[in-house]
Amino acid sequence: GYGSETILPEYKNHNNVPILLGSNENPYGPSELAKKAILESLSKNNRYGMNITMQLAESLAKKNGLSKNNILMSPGSSAILDLVAQFASLQKGNFITAEPTFNYWGSAAEALGLNKISIPLTRDKQHDLDAMFAAIDTNTQLVYVCNPNNPTGTLCDESELRSFVKKATEKTLVLLDEAYLEFTDQNSLSDMLTSNQNLIITKTFSKIYGLAGARVGYALANENLMRKIKKLRTWSGIGIGVVSSSAALATLYDVDFTERTRMLNQKARAYTIKQLEQLNIKCIPSYTNFIYFSLADYTHDFFDKLKKANITGTRVYEEDGQWSRISIGTMEEMKYFIRALG
Ligand code: PLP
Repeated sequence: GYGSETILPEYKNHNNVPILLGSNENPYGPSELAKKAILESLSKNNRYGMNITMQLAESLAKKNGLSKNNILMSPGSSAILDLVAQFASLQKGNFITAEPTFNYWGSAAEALGLNKISIPLTRDKQHDLDAMFAAIDTNTQLVYVCNPNNPTGTLCDESELRSFVKKATEKTLVLLDEAYLEFTDQNSLSDMLTSNQNLIITKTFSKIYGLAGARVGYALANENLMRKIKKLRTWSGIGIGVVSSSAALATLYDVDFTERTRMLNQKARAYTIKQLEQLNIKCIPSYTNFIYFSLADYTHDFFDKLKKANITGTRVYEEDGQWSRISIGTMEEMKYFIRALG
């Protein structure tokens, strides 16, 4: 989630800059190709960007084995999560979500009148897909699954997730958030969309593609479902600015950049987990660019240490076990983070 509210400018570290480990951004982005595309697109800002956004949409649809009728572009995937909440709340009832998970959009769903049903994660911080399925009733309008999950970094087993989606979509709409999937070796479930009328998948350029500030995200769904959702977002082709669409298009096929990010993230993640464990901070194995850990056995004030070192973290997500999260920055940043805690 967004940790910017916790930036504490009064505390300075050795480089005099805040270390941002609160929002799961990509510390290596934007890619060089994206920066070049951004500069080249500046002079096109007097025009609406439908063409470039359409080009991006078509490339993304193709990449996922789908067509342009299956995709909705959006300024960040958060805006799509809100849109799906709006869509689901056209009918009265409830929505089902894990606890904890990425839940900013949940307050929109509740404000629109849906009741929230929270299903706790398992002890090892995995989605409890059986319990989520069992919670579906005739009033359920939406089930949300974040895979891998934020804040825990855990990944569902692919075949279990596929069979869950198959069963659950026979009863209700399933929203699958794949914001961090590119950090894993798992496949997208986008191949299920050609036949499945009740599944919507969201993806973003904010994470592995290193463009959080550019605000580019998208949804994939079956054509029929997408047509209905698009009624809530008319003239959807102009959702993203010219500069952002250009940057995203340039990064999309920049395999060197995304592979480098994956590799550097893995190294910094392995280092950080090892060091945290030595500080008596128990970590959940992570498939993402962030780590979920328990402060229950850490003898110092973690948040005070961060504050003094001018590091932006997040909060306690679960009081029982004092579970918190840290985003994985560069190796240098993670070494600084570990020093600050020691
Ligand atoms: N989904 C998940 C799981 C996230 O963690 C985030 C951001 O942190 C988002 C969606 C939203 O990202 P954006 O709106 O930048 O695409």
